[in-house]
Amino acid sequence: MVGITGYGVHVPRYRLTGQVVGAAWGGPGGKTERAVANHDEDAVTMAWAALDSCLAGKSQNEVGGIYLASTSLPYLEMGNSALVASALDLACEIHSADFSGSVRAAASAFLSAINGVKAGAARSVLIAASDLRQAEPGSPAELEVGDAAGGLMVGSDNVIAEIKEVISLTREIVDIWRREGETYPHEEDARFVRENAMLPLLKEAADKLLKKAGLSKDKINKVVFAAPDAKTAQTFHKSLGFSEASALGGELYQKIGNSGAAMPVLLLIQALETAQPGDRIIWLVYGGGCDAFLLEATDKIASAPNRGSLGKAIEFRRVISSYGKYLQFRGSLPSEKVNPYTSPIILNREEAAIIRLHGVRCQNCGERYFPPRRICKKCRTKDKMDDWKIGHRGKIYTLTKDHLPPTPDPPVVMASADLEGGGRFYGQMADCDAAKAEIGMEVELTFRRLHEGSGFINYFWKMRPI
Ligand code: ZN
Repeated sequence: MVGITGYGVHVPRYRLTGQVVGAAWGGPGGKTERAVANHDEDAVTMAWAALDSCLAGKSQNEVGGIYLASTSLPYLEMGNSALVASALDLACEIHSADFSGSVRAAASAFLSAINGVKAGAARSVLIAASDLRQAEPGSPAELEVGDAAGGLMVGSDNVIAEIKEVISLTREIVDIWRREGETYPHEEDARFVRENAMLPLLKEAADKLLKKAGLSKDKINKVVFAAPDAKTAQTFHKSLGFSEASALGGELYQKIGNSGAAMPVLLLIQALETAQPGDRIIWLVYGGGCDAFLLEATDKIASAPNRGSLGKAIEFRRVISSYGKYLQFRGSLPSEKVNPYTSPIILNREEAAIIRLHGVRCQNCGERYFPPRRICKKCRTKDKMDDWKIGHRGKIYTLTKDHLPPTPDPPVVMASADLEGGGRFYGQMADCDAAKAEIGMEVELTFRRLHEGSGFINYFWKMRPI
């Protein structure tokens, strides 16, 4: 049996509310809000966060592949998925690939993972769908889109939802597009595309999938597909002709926003979180055609790890205080460029420490160190250190608030934390209300952008309150 064996979500902590947008541009702004990535988050860091949660309680050794789906990959050329694999400290002997070009990317990655596991090429494959959605400031889309990531694990052990049938349709449609060098997507007449391309394709895919499976619509418990907004999702669901109870999505559109390539995965996770054993789920993913999957929840669904995590991620929020701050987070305002120097050679040499978070343990006295060092401070033994993976949680030992460095979110809180399992980590804090940062605060390490030096992005770890 091949299917989904686990899932994880990441919703950035910050929210842009209709109230803040209304105050900036005039008008009511409405009651909806959207998730906004912090200034140090991108599709890679959010993918790491979703998969880190997906892997909780599982062994890294069983992962044979990692696929990253996004329309906003930070690197056009360079393995974004390989970077996420390193930050997750996965083995070297795995397959990795980036999927992009359309919001259907997650379904393409999912299909490749299913085929890989079925063919015996990998025991388990991780898939992250992660997107940072851009909308022109002041446009109606600004409150409709959102940033988020969803992670899935596909395998054959402890399956929570089995893949029963798959079909793919491919059709070229000029609906939403963005060319190289452009920040914001263009959209053809939205209503025309929705009624003449999107809805007919969703219908065709659902009908063909049901025919292949020999099932009627009343045998389906949940119908999952991403629409541009909550209202369109509701109208489409009615037109598709499934039972009223099989509809999903409302809260995701109103509290996170349409998260592009991540949206179909978050909606699927929403379906899994409320599914009972035996429930049949249809998952339709539109974009340059449509992929359709029929899944059936197993008796392991109720005890799936992370059950309830999507709701918690939606509720764990902090409202951005002003529209100006949002523009700064987005990098939409001109600012003084800081160009720190970074050596790619050092980054490559010290990848185990910088990206994989490996420290060392003295063979003689057992003292642990991060970053790694050659001589033990305690017993003076030289060059006798074992590799040691540092803990990802700890408590603040001391901290300082620095108002001098240029940052979209001053002050920069620098802290030292004593880690679970030993060792002390020194670095910046993220997603943190500086006024509330204090000694003894419990923190976890999170993978973030540190700065851009020498033309590439420096990723490192920061501490955020648990
Ligand atoms: Zn020692």
